[in-house]
Order: sequence, then structure tokens, then C-alpha cells
Amino acid sequence: MSTKPIATEYAKSAKAGCKGCKGNIAKGALRVGFVGKANFGATAWYHYDCVWKENDSLAAIDSSKRVEELVDGLSALDKSDQEKLEKDLPKYSKAAVVEKKTGKESAKPSKPLAAEYAKSAKSTCKYCGKTIDKGVLRVGFTGKANFGATAWYHEPCIWKRIEDFKGIKLTDSVADSVEGFGELREEAREILKKKLPEVCGGKASKRKSDSGDSQATVAKKGKA
Ligand SMILES: [Zn+2]
Ligand SMILES: [Zn+2]
Repeated sequence: MSTKPIATEYAKSAKAGCKGCKGNIAKGALRVGFVGKANFGATAWYHYDCVWKENDSLAAIDSSKRVEELVDGLSALDKSDQEKLEKDLPKYSKAAVVEKKTGKESAKPSKPLAAEYAKSAKSTCKYCGKTIDKGVLRVGFTGKANFGATAWYHEPCIWKRIEDFKGIKLTDSVADSVEGFGELREEAREILKKKLPEVCGGKASKRKSDSGDSQATVAKKGKA
């Protein structure tokens, strides 16, 4: 039924080349592949040692899953090879995620925050632990959930995460710091424009802000 993203086996022939080093994979050699990543949905095979250099593919693996859920053919391997794979796969896929985030930042528009109306009711607020209903405004820290995903919050909940905001500098406008800002309705934009300067790092907005109704000290200038 559902295909696992990775396959492993002892090569039945010496026909497949390693997609990493382009060398031959000898018959009987332990090989590991990404299912569906070669032409026509075939498995892209690698030498066991070469596969761990495939950061892009590894970063896409959900390493919170058990290895046997991810790897097709695992149980047919020798015990020692199974153990090797069970140890290496989570290790390298986690490392790949880290590397991807630090090394290839330029590939993504890396705004520190994101906001949108939840497209489904699948996400859970990282603060209160409750479901974020479909259509509800949610705000998140990009890259702060597992595997570089966005950690989402109910809009009222995220402001409780003062600590997480400290690392965020509002360099430009709020719009330039929040992914999806342009698609929000006016009232949501107003909330973000008011709240973010209060909580983000780089400004000494510490005093008196805990008294419930905190006036936006930043936006004073323009007002009469
Ligand atoms: Zn190789
Ligand atoms: Zn919440």
C-alpha cells in the first residue's frame, strides 16, 4: 500500500549505478534508495555510504517516524545492517535539516514570522495545545517546528511567547518580517503592526508592558 520513502536491499545485480558517486553498486552490496526519486518513479539507489550525502532528500524524511515505517525492506537485511540503518537514518536526516537551514538560506524567503488564516483544522497551537480551527488567524515562528516547519499559534496565544520574540529583529516594516502579511485582512494587519513592535527584540520596550492594557509606546509620534 502506502510507499515508504526509502528502500534498502542487497543489490540483486550490478546494474544500478550509485546516484551519488556514479560508481557501480556491486551485486550483493547493501544499497539504500529514495523511492520514486529516479526517472519514471523508480528508486534512486546509492551506496550505503553515499546516501548520507544527499541532504535535500534526507531533509525531507520525517525522522520522527520509526525507521521501520520509513524504510522498505529493512527486515530482510542482516541484523547488523538493520541496526546500522536504524542508527544512521535518524542521525543523518536530522543533520540534513540543520544543514539545510543554515547553509541554504538563500533558497527561501526567510521571514522570521508567518501569518495566515488556517487552511485546515490540522495544526495545533504550540502555546495552549488546542486545535487551530480552519479559517482562524494563526501566527507562527517560521522554521521553529520540526524539520524547519512553522510553529503556529492562535493569534492571542503567540504574544505570550515573549522569549521567542526576543531573537527577532524588526529590521524593516512589519510586512517584510511576516510571511503572508499581504494576504491578511486589514484588522489582522493592524493587530500585527501594533503588537510586533512591542514584543520583538531590538527595542527597549520592557517597562510597564505587563499592566494588561499596554499602550503602544512606539506609535506615539504621529498622534496628536
Ligand atoms: Zn556511491
Ligand atoms: Zn492557542
